[in-house]
Order: sequence, then C-alpha cells, then structure tokens
Amino acid sequence: MQLYNNLSAKERAELIEQAGKERLTISFYKYAKINNTEIFRNHLFLAWDELDVLGRIYVANEGINAQLSVPAENFEPFKNHLDTISFLENVRLNIAIEHDNFAFLKLKVKVRNKIVADGLNDASFDVTNKGVHVNAEKFNELIEDPNTVLVDMRNHYESEIGHFKNAVTPDVDTFRESLDLIEEDLREHKEDKKLVMYCTGGIRCEKASAYYKHKGFKNVFQLEGGIINYVRQIEAEGLENKFLGKNFVFDERRSERISDDVIANCHQCGEPADLHTNCANEACHLLFIQCDSCKEKMENCCSSTCMEINRLPYEEQKALRKGQGNSNDIFKKGRADHLPFKKDLRNIFETMKSNNI
Ligand SMILES: [Zn+2]
Ligand SMILES: [Zn+2]
Repeated sequence: MQLYNNLSAKERAELIEQAGKERLTISFYKYAKINNTEIFRNHLFLAWDELDVLGRIYVANEGINAQLSVPAENFEPFKNHLDTISFLENVRLNIAIEHDNFAFLKLKVKVRNKIVADGLNDASFDVTNKGVHVNAEKFNELIEDPNTVLVDMRNHYESEIGHFKNAVTPDVDTFRESLDLIEEDLREHKEDKKLVMYCTGGIRCEKASAYYKHKGFKNVFQLEGGIINYVRQIEAEGLENKFLGKNFVFDERRSERISDDVIANCHQCGEPADLHTNCANEACHLLFIQCDSCKEKMENCCSSTCMEINRLPYEEQKALRKGQGNSNDIFKKGRADHLPFKKDLRNIFETMKSNNI
C-alpha cells in the first residue's frame, strides 16, 4: 500500500469497516483542462449531494481541488463515480489519519479562476515541467542528505505547529510570498543544492516545483501526496517518522497529531502549546495559539479589549460592529502585535537558526 493511487477492493473494504457508520475525511486534486466549469460543477454537486458528500471543492479551468467527507458506506459509489470522470480515474485520494464526522458541515462546490490561489502567471513558465515526485522512503533519504535544503511550502500558521525535522519554514502569509523569499535566499545554491519541498497534500508543490525549475534550480524534488500521504506510508511500511508535531488541516478538525512533540508556544504566555483557536470576539476572530490556562483566563479571547467586547450583550456587539468590515478571513489574520510569543521571522536563515538547522 505505497501510494493511494489505487486502493484495492480489500483495502477499501478494510477502510470502510474501520470507519463503521462514520465519515471518511478525504482530499484530492488534479490539474486537468476543464472547459465548461459550470457544467462540471453542477454535475459534481448533483452526484455527490446524492451520496451525502460534504466538503469544499474548487473547480477551475486548470483542474479540481477537493477536501471532503464521505459516509464510509458511500465510499464505494463515490469512488466509482470518480472513476467515471476520465481525468479522475484512479486519482490519488489522500485519506486523513483521524476522522471527524463534523470535519465539514456543507457541500460547497465553487468555480474559481485557479484551484490554488498561488498568485502566479502560469503563462510565464512551463507548469508541466515539475520536480521529481518522491515517496516517503526516498523523501526520508533525501532529507538526511547534507546537500539538501528542505523547504516547507505552507504558511506560517501551518508550519508553526508541525513540520519536518530540519525544514526551512518561511514565515509567510501567502504562497506567493514564500516562492519569492525562497528564491531570493537560495539564489547562490540553484545548482549545487537539492531543493526538496513538501506541503499538506502535494498540490502547492505541483506549481512551486515547476516555478523553481523555471527559475534555474537544477535539482527539485517534491513529496508525492504531501504530509497526509507521507504519514499513511510510514505507517503502512513501518518507516521512520521525521515529521514533528501536528499537521494543520483546512477543516473543522484544524490539525492532525502526527508525533507527540509540541513544537509551538502559546502566543500569550509562551508555554508549550499547539492548539489553534479563533478569538471569541466575533469582530476579531484572529487565529492564534492559546494554551488551556490562557484560554480560561482570557475567556478564549486574544486581548483584554476583545474580552471586554465579547462580554457585552450580543446586540451591543452587533451595534459596535456596524459599518466595520467584519473579516472572517481567519487565515490572513494569524498575526497581531499584541501577541508577544508569535514568532515573526521573515528571513529563511533566521528561521533556520530558530529551528536549529
Ligand atoms: Zn498561555
Ligand atoms: Zn481578538
């Protein structure tokens, strides 16, 4: 069971039995030319709604990116339906380690310009000239090589709670920022170093690896199926786990614990903690890490100002918010000056130092 490209009938049966009446949390993506995105979107929605599939799916002319939860008993028909779509036949499904029946609450299939907001002009480079895809075993080997620079292609709030040993974790808010930062910092090493990259499920590396090759990096590798698939493989094949902490995921579960290491700190008191929360003040909703004792003391708020607002009667809070943009864009807001223990390291080499590389 090396890659989840082809789940055998037996493997599927095992999976469904393990889950019982539960739901399976699954993600997959595929770059493929989709001409009529609206029609495709409607087709998916009707078929999957019937199967009680929940989740967030983006469809674009460049392909599909899906995070969803499927009732275990409907997994087989769901898989059969995927196989009826030519470019999704035998697509690799990343199946979560921990399942949560409440990972998604609705089925949303949206048409977008791109399946990942990467900020790249695809016409400016050859997106099909990707890096070498490696499995967990090869990846483990590569990242021990002194000539390797291992780069985490995710954003700061993701790598903060978990990343591979020795990984460079750019402290960025967007993927685009991360691409530039890495290129800048590794300018001298385009030919002599192996650039090895990973992300949650592999999708961000698909473009990033092609972009770096275009920028002149000679040895570019990417972890096939990302962290999610890596963890599956190390379990199935008894390989050494080199991932520390938790894998941040984009559903209600927030993260999956991969190793017992707690590598982050409470942003308020600095004690070891790696649980993300959103500030209870709805007008703030800041995403940050809070330990249990700060949670209690601060009433799940990020600041005393938010605590005061949160204590007001709901109607008063609403009145206060009137006219102000209430941003629920939690991922963009994962920084604030009043959180003393949120690391703010913009330079790759500073990050390397702080990660003891
Ligand atoms: Zn704390
Ligand atoms: Zn707040």
